[in-house]
Amino acid sequence: MEIKCGTGTEELTLNCFEICRRQVKEACDALDLEPAAYEILKQPRRVMEVAVPVIMDDGHVRNFVGWRSQHNDALGPFKGGLRFHPDVTVDEVKALSMWMTFKCAVLGLPYGGGKGGVRCDPRGMSRGELERLSRGLMGALAPITGPERDIPAPDVYTNPQIMAWMVDEFSRLRDYNSFGVMTGKPLLIGGSAGRNEATGRGCVYTCLEAMKQLGIPVAGARVAIQGFGNAGSVAAHLLHQRGARIVAVGDSCGSTFQAGGMDPAALADHKRRTGTVGGFPTGTPITTEQLLQTECEVLIPAALENQLTARVAGGVRARIVGEAANGPTTPEADVILFDRGVLVLPDILASAGGVTVSYFEWSQNLSGYYWSEQEVNQKLEWAMVRAFRTVYDMSQERRIPMRSAAFMVAVKRVADAMRVRGWLGPA
Ligand code: NAD
Repeated sequence: MEIKCGTGTEELTLNCFEICRRQVKEACDALDLEPAAYEILKQPRRVMEVAVPVIMDDGHVRNFVGWRSQHNDALGPFKGGLRFHPDVTVDEVKALSMWMTFKCAVLGLPYGGGKGGVRCDPRGMSRGELERLSRGLMGALAPITGPERDIPAPDVYTNPQIMAWMVDEFSRLRDYNSFGVMTGKPLLIGGSAGRNEATGRGCVYTCLEAMKQLGIPVAGARVAIQGFGNAGSVAAHLLHQRGARIVAVGDSCGSTFQAGGMDPAALADHKRRTGTVGGFPTGTPITTEQLLQTECEVLIPAALENQLTARVAGGVRARIVGEAANGPTTPEADVILFDRGVLVLPDILASAGGVTVSYFEWSQNLSGYYWSEQEVNQKLEWAMVRAFRTVYDMSQERRIPMRSAAFMVAVKRVADAMRVRGWLGPA
């Protein structure tokens, strides 16, 4: 089934599930794995479809359709976000659950991959309707969910409040508090310090390592960031703090360029007042394409899928691309960037900070011992740097792109776990 993977500089219709399968197959072949490994990894272990009837504020009942895909749990419980979006499809959820398996494995987290989605438009729903949907959804998913089974988290248009309702519903069904069933919760009920900033922070740690490898000093380095939301704005703040120059930044309403660099706090303030970073008073307005092709040391796509297309990639003038977004680079663009010597830090590595701190949150819930933000950030840095080095070494050794190396590292870990568990048949 063909599915739409977002819109951007060029609207593309790609089958994400097929792309993901291709990436896994290539890794299985390069690792010379027994055929049973791909046979198992090529599809999710379980996809549950649910229908959640909700009494709307006007008294009529709407039945919302959703899915939870559990791809592979060889390394630990299924883990991954839950999105509320009018365009969610089952193939999208399946592909994202597959990517989660490998994102967790690259970081060495004791998790498998899962993802869920409900077809709804939360922007047009009242707080009461959203609460009833969230609680109803948890009721439907409860048989396959739990701290040792499947642990959802926020994703597109879901947030800590939705996690709180779902945790409460699960706890009510079990008749005891079970905070470890979801991550990305409010701090008051077992959320972790540092979770909100974790994706942007994790991406910055991998970019800093890449700069070190390429001998690029951080002070004065030029950075362009597409997307000034959760991930992009945190990345901008942290890189600015370290002396880098944020020379270009953009969101869905506009982009802006300033050769001397812009202060992310002033950009955030401008966005709060006007709704966009476009039109920043001291900057020059540019298009999204110009932003992606800005001459810089580091480009961070932190918005949508399929932004770096074959058409754009030929003009990219960054030395490093740090993928904070999921799937911002098309497979064709990947080849072009590799041939042009651009170091692409793939999403399953560079955007894994969020799930890594989700793992810390779950560990804190299970042990009942809570860490300081400083402790969380230190452990995150350690985990991201370790993962970066493993993938970078593999890519250098084999002269392959970081994305191929990341898939090889991840697929090998999952396959080794499946083998030792006896899933791959006789040795
Ligand atoms: P967000 O909604 O907070 O921010 C998204 C930003 O992208 C906004 O500034 C928006 O204006 C901008 N944007 C949207 N369409 C655009 C367009 N056509 N051109 C330019 N900018 C556009 O979302 P987020 O949480 O920061 O997530 C951003 C990306 O990072 C997504 O791909 C998401 O899947 C990925 N990601 C996020 C997390 C997380 O923990 N937040 C974790 C892993 C991956």
